[in-house]
Amino acid sequence: MTQPNPDNLRRKIQLANDAYAKGVPFLTDYEYDLLWKQLHSIDPTNPVLYHTAKHETRDGYVTHQVPLLSLQKAFVTEDLKLFWTRYSDQELLIQPKYDGVAICLYQMREGIRAVLAGDGKGGLDVTRHIPYMRLPAVDGPRLECEALILWQDWHESYGANPRNTVAGLLNRKSLEDNKIPISIIPHDALSLPICKVPDRSMDLEGLQSKLLEIYAAWSQNYPMDGLVIKVSSPTLRLQAGHNGTFPLWAIAWKPPIQTAETTVVDLEWNISKTGRLIPTVIYDPISLCYTTNTRATGNNAKWIQDRGLGSGAKIRVGKAGEIIPQVVEILQTASVDLPELCPMCQTELTYEEPHLICSSSDCAPQLAKQLLFFYSAAGIKLDGVGPAMLDKIINDIKLYHVLKESRWALLEPETFGIDERLRNCMGPGTYENLMDSITSLDLELDPAKFIGGLGYKSLGSKRALILLQMMKGYKVPKAKLSQDALQLMPLAVADLLRAKDQFKYFSFKPVPEPATVTYCITGELSEPRQEIIRLLEPFGWQFTNYVGKDLTYMVIGHLDHETYKLSQAKRFGIKQISEDDLPIRTQTEI
Ligand SMILES: [Zn+2]
Repeated sequence: MTQPNPDNLRRKIQLANDAYAKGVPFLTDYEYDLLWKQLHSIDPTNPVLYHTAKHETRDGYVTHQVPLLSLQKAFVTEDLKLFWTRYSDQELLIQPKYDGVAICLYQMREGIRAVLAGDGKGGLDVTRHIPYMRLPAVDGPRLECEALILWQDWHESYGANPRNTVAGLLNRKSLEDNKIPISIIPHDALSLPICKVPDRSMDLEGLQSKLLEIYAAWSQNYPMDGLVIKVSSPTLRLQAGHNGTFPLWAIAWKPPIQTAETTVVDLEWNISKTGRLIPTVIYDPISLCYTTNTRATGNNAKWIQDRGLGSGAKIRVGKAGEIIPQVVEILQTASVDLPELCPMCQTELTYEEPHLICSSSDCAPQLAKQLLFFYSAAGIKLDGVGPAMLDKIINDIKLYHVLKESRWALLEPETFGIDERLRNCMGPGTYENLMDSITSLDLELDPAKFIGGLGYKSLGSKRALILLQMMKGYKVPKAKLSQDALQLMPLAVADLLRAKDQFKYFSFKPVPEPATVTYCITGELSEPRQEIIRLLEPFGWQFTNYVGKDLTYMVIGHLDHETYKLSQAKRFGIKQISEDDLPIRTQTEI
């Protein structure tokens, strides 16, 4: 066989590229790949093999060389009719419609580049993850694939479904520490011809049962949400083209909803941020779409009552792919006892059709806010505790009660017997992250910060420190303490002592002695005031804005006129010093 002329190949590929860009392709994908492979084997660095300008990254976002089209979907047999009529005398291929994250692998001069399908026009560059994923061989210019977690690698503790988990992983900065195997499967790796020319014997019903059979077999191994039926002939694909949204030579078939009969055993009521109670129907376990299910959406109180979905009701539950199970039919009703008291805070509920409402200002949504504050910089700063996580946590009735009683329970989940429930609530990944944040905390907590985090009125950590020092019998420079702060301090201290008793691992730092030197600043200094205050802290100098007779020094900066603070300092006979007298200045001079 003669070696093809590289110049000829280069010219053909260039023409094909230009034609494709103009929307008038004349080569089939198969023909194009063949030319590409030939040139690549002779001249692997030839620029015509690689698209460059269009591919420039912007914030990790890469434009696809060719837009990735979505597929027309067939939900019921009837939806297949047109496609079947048009192509049933052609060879058709069936491939899995994987339920993962679509990803495109590009062969670049510098190696493989991995880009998420994104919106089809462009997506996130995830090339950095390549060493941590199971990659197929790429022997053409590009390979459309799916990033998946195979069922054999899956564990329900990884999350709600493999698709969400894999999407979350791919968005991470690094997968270095990830232990969940991610497989990259080419879209056409599994392909089955279903209809050979000239086979007109199969009708739509026959096709449907054939598809179901294939789907059932493949979905044992791969997370899938359907099948793709494609015209096999590259020439026919080129002729059929696309309509701008999807190719006209392929269709996605969705499996029909699977249903099963079961019995309602309970209703679970969770509270929304706005105080609405959202019911979940709990039923005897049934297997649907290869997972065991016990819970279906209950919508609202009226919906539950109108349908008689009390304990003992016989229902039919349906599920398609990864969709949350739904009650599709009521076979036998049972009376519903709507709750009268809020399951969280025991407040009497009101019925504002269609919802039951808890209007207590002391209920779960409130607790979420309190917890957010407690674990913020105002209290015990714990990284990764955010509103979304807290919403999940407080909707678990046990967690709600434990945390309502002791906000600090998140610091020692095992001690408070909530570790298992937390793990279930937030998922194992988030739970591990939380544990990491806890481990990074100082085992001795700052008692003043702890009290500050409790959010009592006028009792921030600074005032709490002064009050703690006063309780210790230290002589504390007078500070303005509100009545509120003084009255609420005993409650805060009771919480502190209770926490101290409960903690197994954490303890509290001793209350520090008050600073030996307190000072106030008036006028302008050579550096920002906050910077001076920070520099003086290691010397045990404590800044205050309050001029009283206990003040040690009045630091005088540049002044145009006598300030109120200065006049107060004179009145109390406070020693006046300049910036040059500060220990930070005298030290640097030595
Ligand atoms: Zn409530």
